[in-house]
Amino acid sequence: MRDLAMGGTDLLFPRRCAACGAKLFGEYERKMCGDCWSDISFLHRPLCRICGMELGGESERNHACGVCLQKPPPYLMARSVVRYSPVVQKLLYGLKYGADSSVLPGIAEILSQFDMAPFGQCDYIIPVPLHLKRLRRRGFNQSMLLAKLMFPKKSQSILQTNILIRTRNTVPQTTLDGVKRRKNLIGAFNLAKKAEIDQKTICLVDDVFTTGTTVSECSRVFCSYGAKEVKIITLTRVEMSRRGS
Ligand SMILES: [Zn+2]
Ligand SMILES: [Zn+2]
Repeated sequence: MRDLAMGGTDLLFPRRCAACGAKLFGEYERKMCGDCWSDISFLHRPLCRICGMELGGESERNHACGVCLQKPPPYLMARSVVRYSPVVQKLLYGLKYGADSSVLPGIAEILSQFDMAPFGQCDYIIPVPLHLKRLRRRGFNQSMLLAKLMFPKKSQSILQTNILIRTRNTVPQTTLDGVKRRKNLIGAFNLAKKAEIDQKTICLVDDVFTTGTTVSECSRVFCSYGAKEVKIITLTRVEMSRRGS
């Protein structure tokens, strides 16, 4: 009976896929159509224990990848929820440029399938900040929206948006590669409340992990002011072979 009633509502007010906008019928808990959902791919273990890169089936658990062994990043661990894909790109685009709240249920559905336990014991949840100029133009920070979706309400008292600040309005990292990414961000972040960070465990939230330059630069700032450790969580990760460098 409920289905019949809901079906009637579907006809009058069709629900839409959060990614492609196709009409959804039935399966009321789903926020994306079957086609879009089939494009969503969670990362498979074993992962590099530091940067979270997929190591491939044969590797033992608790290993680090060659890149991290050679040059350990300043953070304790980085994890991403899903691989970068056309549907994830669409969701992120909606989140970032359109202020499109219709993508939020789709992202929430993806997050509901991910184990956030490793990020449960943090003192602060801090989204990677935008520069004030960009924030004013866009009206919101997509990493802050993600942090709100990732952490349940009870954690949101430790969500901090005024500790880490972006002191330079840098060009978007996506337009650069390799060494230029790193150079672009040197000195781009600082702390507004330096004393707050001492001996704290920080969970840093960003949308995409590509080369890890942005999160490394933020982590370096936290560590230089005495943070105990920094854990990174991003919605998606661009695979190594598709990285800029
Ligand atoms: Zn769809
Ligand atoms: Zn690694």
